Amino acid sequence: MTEGRVVALGDTRELLSLVAPHTEVLDLGGHPVTPGLVDSHCHFSAVHEIVTIDAAYPSVGSIKEIAAKVRERTATVPPGTWIVGTGWNEGTLAERRYIVAADLDTVSPDHPVWLSHASECYGAGNSLALRLAGVQSSTTDPPHGRIERDEEGRPTGVLIDAAQLAVTRLIPPPSQEDRIRGVARACELFHAEGVTSVKDGGGDAQRWEDYLLALERGLLGIRTFFMWEAPRELAPCNALLGHIAGAKASSAARTGHQLMCGGVKIYLDGTTGARTAWVYDDWYEGPGILDGGNKGYPVVDADVFRDQAKLFHSNGIHMSVHCIGDRAIDFCLDCYEEALAENPVAGLRHGLIHCHIPTHEALDRIVELQRRFDVAVPETQPTFLWFLGDYYAANFGPARNSRLFPLRSYSMRGINWTAGSDYPVTPSGPRYGIAAAMCRQTLLNRYGPHPFGVQEAIGPLEALAAYSSQAARQLFLEDWVGSLTPGKYADLAVWERDFGTVTPEEARENRCLLTMVGGREVYRRHGF
Ligand SMILES: [Zn+2]
Repeated sequence: MTEGRVVALGDTRELLSLVAPHTEVLDLGGHPVTPGLVDSHCHFSAVHEIVTIDAAYPSVGSIKEIAAKVRERTATVPPGTWIVGTGWNEGTLAERRYIVAADLDTVSPDHPVWLSHASECYGAGNSLALRLAGVQSSTTDPPHGRIERDEEGRPTGVLIDAAQLAVTRLIPPPSQEDRIRGVARACELFHAEGVTSVKDGGGDAQRWEDYLLALERGLLGIRTFFMWEAPRELAPCNALLGHIAGAKASSAARTGHQLMCGGVKIYLDGTTGARTAWVYDDWYEGPGILDGGNKGYPVVDADVFRDQAKLFHSNGIHMSVHCIGDRAIDFCLDCYEEALAENPVAGLRHGLIHCHIPTHEALDRIVELQRRFDVAVPETQPTFLWFLGDYYAANFGPARNSRLFPLRSYSMRGINWTAGSDYPVTPSGPRYGIAAAMCRQTLLNRYGPHPFGVQEAIGPLEALAAYSSQAARQLFLEDWVGSLTPGKYADLAVWERDFGTVTPEEARENRCLLTMVGGREVYRRHGF
């Protein structure tokens, strides 16, 4: 490599013949090299590690442990100070249930507490937090949100979707310095897993400024494709078009292929954990227990969403839409088709973020949309099978479980799809996703070894492609990264083992030894 680019590929003998006096030779001891990996959907900041309690597995394994961390924190800050935590997930808590106010009241009577779920689509507060937020038995559910209640109608402390705002709007935001440190920390975490490019999961003007500042200070060591989060009404979306154009024009020369003002992220439905994703058939509350009448819902007015899709498409803006349920996926495809009927412009590569349970008919439509217009690309998270699979299996129920992330069908039908972590929902390592795509198993095996079947399992190299060449396309960077090719950036990762020959267990434990971005070493594992 030279000047940050790959110059030649070959075996040791061929490459040694190119060595000149000034050439630095790096002996990798026979370890395999892959392109630097690409995470096609993550929320690229670890600010929660800096200012909040880490409530994620494996740093905690039970509600008791989380409560102990909260108690510890109360001793370090004055009463009345907010104590915030993130990352819990009932599937990996020993108690196998949501955290509720009663769990937190005894350990923190004088500090308001808010613990956000790993999905950030719901969370739990203590009684003081609910009181400050004015959430009580008589409070009605807000539009697009739900206050969880006990049998007597009293709020339990769990607030879902828009209901969270009553509490979260009271929490003072992290400072700019903390946010920049959060981006720098995220770079470290991803570098250590061989990741060199990410597609951001959506943010606002402040977040864009943070990235610019991090880049200026030399702290943005990962190629970042930024997505603007669309407001949930149409009028401000028009204003957003102006913002995007302004940001693109003012930054392009400074940011190159390190920070890209990429497109728009839109939310269409909820989550699997809160059973709010928009589905055709009722959700399950637990294994075999139907959540009668609950089919989830769109989190934005359906007509507004249709207009948003048309607006961004007709303005040539790439968009990726959060759609988990089969009904949400179909509606998103409807809107993409309508937008394309009005404006048959190909190549905007609109994405389907998560795309958990597409129907067979949806797969037909995705094939057609990709073939004709290069749009409707599933941006999936195989890691969810492993880390969230234990509650997914119960909530989706057997009929839907087998078509969760139909990766083999994608592969067989030539559908372009990508993989990512949705960090901090699941950890930053693609190795977890590669393993999960191969075995479709869950972390705790609560519903047997294969609750999602193995029909849709794929091989490690297919999964690796979804974290490299295919994902690079969704960042519009395929001419620059995603494969080791002369002329492309020397973004690469060195591994303990060859992903081509691993078992799922070996894939999961396959550690990154060295990571380079543009030929510059950004990570080296201790002892390598
Ligand atoms: Zn996300």
